Amino acid sequence: MLSFRSLSLLAPLIRVGNAALFTDPKNLPNTEYDFIVIGAGTAGNVVANRLSKDSTKTVLVVEAGLNDAGIQAIEIPFLAPETAGTSVDWNYTTIPQPGLNNRILDVPRGFALGGSSNLHYMLWTQGSEDLFNSYAEVTGDPGWSWDAIQPFWKRVSTLVPSTDNPSLSPPPPADNPTLSNGDGPIQVNLPNFPTDIDFRVINGSKELEKAGTGDGRFKFTDNMNGGDSIGFGFNQESAGGGQRSSSSTAYLRPIIDSRPNLDVLIQTRAMKLIETYNGTFTSVEVAQNVDGPLTVLKATSEIILSAGSIGSSQLLLLSGIGPRDELEAIGVPSKINLPGVANTYSLGRGKKGTFFYSSIQSPRLHVPELEGEKDPSTGAKSANTEFVFTNGFFGSQVPTEGHFLTLAVALVSPKSKGSLTLKSSGNGTFTEPSIDYGLLSDEWDLEALMQGLRDSETFLNATPWTQPSPEPYIIEPVGDWATARNGTDKDREDFIRNNMITVFHPIGTARMSSGSPSDPLGVTDARLRVRGVKGLRVIDASVFNTNSRPYLSVIPKHLSTPSLKEEHK
Ligand SMILES: Cc1cc2nc3c(=O)[nH]c(=O)nc-3n(C[C@H](O)[C@H](O)[C@H](O)COP(=O)(O)OP(=O)(O)OC[C@H]3O[C@@H](n4cnc5c(N)ncnc54)[C@H](O)[C@@H]3O)c2cc1C
Repeated sequence: MLSFRSLSLLAPLIRVGNAALFTDPKNLPNTEYDFIVIGAGTAGNVVANRLSKDSTKTVLVVEAGLNDAGIQAIEIPFLAPETAGTSVDWNYTTIPQPGLNNRILDVPRGFALGGSSNLHYMLWTQGSEDLFNSYAEVTGDPGWSWDAIQPFWKRVSTLVPSTDNPSLSPPPPADNPTLSNGDGPIQVNLPNFPTDIDFRVINGSKELEKAGTGDGRFKFTDNMNGGDSIGFGFNQESAGGGQRSSSSTAYLRPIIDSRPNLDVLIQTRAMKLIETYNGTFTSVEVAQNVDGPLTVLKATSEIILSAGSIGSSQLLLLSGIGPRDELEAIGVPSKINLPGVANTYSLGRGKKGTFFYSSIQSPRLHVPELEGEKDPSTGAKSANTEFVFTNGFFGSQVPTEGHFLTLAVALVSPKSKGSLTLKSSGNGTFTEPSIDYGLLSDEWDLEALMQGLRDSETFLNATPWTQPSPEPYIIEPVGDWATARNGTDKDREDFIRNNMITVFHPIGTARMSSGSPSDPLGVTDARLRVRGVKGLRVIDASVFNTNSRPYLSVIPKHLSTPSLKEEHK
């Protein structure tokens, strides 16, 4: 019979119950795993779940942030805008943006199990057919094409009934009752409380579509996730049972206590990847404080980098994987010369405000006027701009009286490029990197936003907004827009530069490519393995190609004062 003492000698191999959430590296039962996943965010948790399904493989997840369980601002969908800027946010900022008259913008990124899927506004959208086909083209791998991706997309989410009052939600169309969802663990529902403005948006869209205004760009759609992203329709939201459905609730928490081959370490940052022998990176240094101590953990199969588009590229750079000259200039020994690391294309979040989302799927517009050689969208089913409706006053300095409608015009296919660099080699991931979005550094973006503003005016001239009953729904524009709207083009440009903020979708800091010499900035291959390196993959939003630009946006405010009645129809 095993004695208590002999049991304790076996301690690294057994566990009491299956509790596997650790808050200190020194309590981990092992220092060696088959796979180490760095970053328990949107992408990381999915992969950790899939890998640990094989009980013969051991998996460790290392997350810098907190346990997300029980944090109400994360769990309650209505409180989504309240999570950025708190302890579950990395609270990065950009460097001054010359295109924005040197304003500095916030860059929110999730800092908890679930990553940025805890901060995000739950808009549940799939990229367009054009977008995925462009990934296939860029990587030379048909596995990224729209047709090839569909079976995987269906494994992610399930459409569930709306919670509060299902009768308020529009029914899914009879020919597509799942609205392109399948049977996966993320719960998705339709609006729980559509408001007056939602129906005005839909009616406005139908009116303009019927009149042929804007070459069909204002068309109504009942499903934006079916391959054609263009149109105005109701929002699908990643929530169910009244709660946010995140990569943590769907993929990680359900297995934390039940898979003996999975350990999750929180409140611990990966500081650097270590080259164990020529070009092979199978170890990672982690720390809980800037002064250490440092613990080295080893992956015998692979390290999976899923620290997000800021965190993954920061780690690659700190590990000597990136542009050689740039790294050597700040004293980081260069291991692998990959000039494309941190050649970012990114946009972040702006000011906090009091606002309530509309239930309208942020309508996407493909703008024929912008087509041509320079149009960076991936095709006619991909958007150039997007309208974001807010049932309230979006921004700081909320007026004490009045009812407000905010229509933000977002640019979804920007051309400007930014960059992410290390400020210094000291203090590892405890030093914030230098994030430069390069906003409005390409003239095309300004042109597209100016067109977006004109389109917003066309849209708000539809009958639902102008009809007197007893007075027009929109009474007048307010704020800076009230002046800029009636001014010159230069006034409109100033309005954009002074008010523009971003909507949180940095990508492309370690992008995938076919490896062709004509694309020297590719960092991973189509299977997301880092080029020139063994044992390392990047699997998060960093890999999206900058030429395809999924869902990136910039928001100038456009305010107007409706005689708002909160009526549910
Ligand atoms: C405020 C906001 C609203 C948004 N709204 C929407 C929306 O409505 N719909 C939509 O589709 N998208 C939205 N997005 C974008 C979406 O959230 C992101 O594109 C997506 O979550 C990115 O996933 P990821 O896996 O690349 O990174 P993340 O989910 O950010 O995961 C990265 C993880 O790695 C961890 N990490 C970082 N560095 C380290 C390190 N050194 N060591 C250990 N761990 C580390 C982080 O703490 C984090 O948990 C929004 C984003 C924000 C910020």
